[in-house]
Amino acid sequence: MKPERILFIVLDGLGDHAYRELDGLTPLEKASSTGLKRLKENGSQGLMDIIAPGVPPSSDVSHLVMFGYDIEREYFGRGPIEALGEGVELEEGEIAFRGNLATVRIENGYPVVVDRRAGRIGSEQTRELTGFLNEELGEFQGFRVRFQPLSEHRFVMVVSGEGLSHEVTDNDPHAEGKPVILCQPVEEARDREGAERLANLVNSITLEAIRRLSRHELNRIRAEKSLQEANAILVRSPGVKRRMASFREKWDLNAACVAAGLLYKGIGRATGMDIYRVEGANGLLNTNIAGKLSKALELLEKYDFVYLHFKGTDVASHSRNPVAKYEFIQRFGENLRLIDESVLTDTTIVVTGDHTTPCDRGMHSGEPVPILVSSGGLRKDDTGVFSEREAARGGLGRMRGCELMQVLLDSIGRTVEYGTRPSPKRVNYMPKQLAYLRLKEV
Ligand code: ZN
Ligand code: ZN
Repeated sequence: MKPERILFIVLDGLGDHAYRELDGLTPLEKASSTGLKRLKENGSQGLMDIIAPGVPPSSDVSHLVMFGYDIEREYFGRGPIEALGEGVELEEGEIAFRGNLATVRIENGYPVVVDRRAGRIGSEQTRELTGFLNEELGEFQGFRVRFQPLSEHRFVMVVSGEGLSHEVTDNDPHAEGKPVILCQPVEEARDREGAERLANLVNSITLEAIRRLSRHELNRIRAEKSLQEANAILVRSPGVKRRMASFREKWDLNAACVAAGLLYKGIGRATGMDIYRVEGANGLLNTNIAGKLSKALELLEKYDFVYLHFKGTDVASHSRNPVAKYEFIQRFGENLRLIDESVLTDTTIVVTGDHTTPCDRGMHSGEPVPILVSSGGLRKDDTGVFSEREAARGGLGRMRGCELMQVLLDSIGRTVEYGTRPSPKRVNYMPKQLAYLRLKEV
């Protein structure tokens, strides 16, 4: 039996370097004797440059590229994607920023960031303070401003009104001990005037928020208890909500998403996938791996494409902990025993990363990611275990992120010969619904 559906597993930031504490192996290599070995024996591996060699991608861009989206034309920014992930509904044209409640202290007239997360202030207090900001700044200089609380210190700031462009910088310096950044139009802004208008607006809102939050009763109480005051807002990643082609429109596959992280649920929602929650899934190292994998396997019964995301690998990388990363992959690999022989036969299973995050760097790098495709519909290579090193001589060679979906469609026999034209839509696969010629008299 040929595979008919696709299980797409992303271990976030999977690619890495070798470490002495892992016996000179990479975290993936050291965990490769688990269930990953069985998947490897049923397929081929290779290296994938998500964007281009040496270009470190962010997670949202990377996923969209792998799902076949054209970033230049179709990407609308991380702010709205994270907002979508939390179920925040945005209207077409609204500009969304991801934001943090933060602690600043004033030095020589500059607000300097003391804590980017205001002592990880709780969700309850964030709800109260963002509610207060909505009352105070909801109508601001003729524009509408809305603060939507997310978990802990996080919120989304939505701005709308005439003549605004989202092409501005963050005000978040992304580091403690640095002053709040002046929001400015980006150099390549297409609508310079609109971007200047938004930048001025963001700067005024930030100053007003600092002034008003500093006097809020709740901050007085926090100060008394020696807690960090939530006396400032930091905003970043502005984007404007635009309609995006759904995954189904693009590939004619019905798709589901099993992810816990905000951004990943947002990617699923932005691309029109059905989103599923799993008890104990938290986007961290101690997530419910078995629960998520079982859910994904169950969804394969009714979906053509299931996207399953794990964040633990990237979390370990950012905290520069190769042992924790190895242990996470090891646990994931052991849980692959949940995949029975029939699933192995009728499913193309992908395991890859959305970028390389070397633990010794603690940040994303531009190195290619290892990719494993287990499929009865593709050639098998003669490489050993799934690893960055073996992948370099694998049967998938070195591919680009934007080529992946076509390869996967081919593995489930959904492609047509180049130039074949069964439908008005210009695609290289056979659409499920075609228009048929009917006899005049039946
Ligand atoms: Zn990522
Ligand atoms: Zn990361």
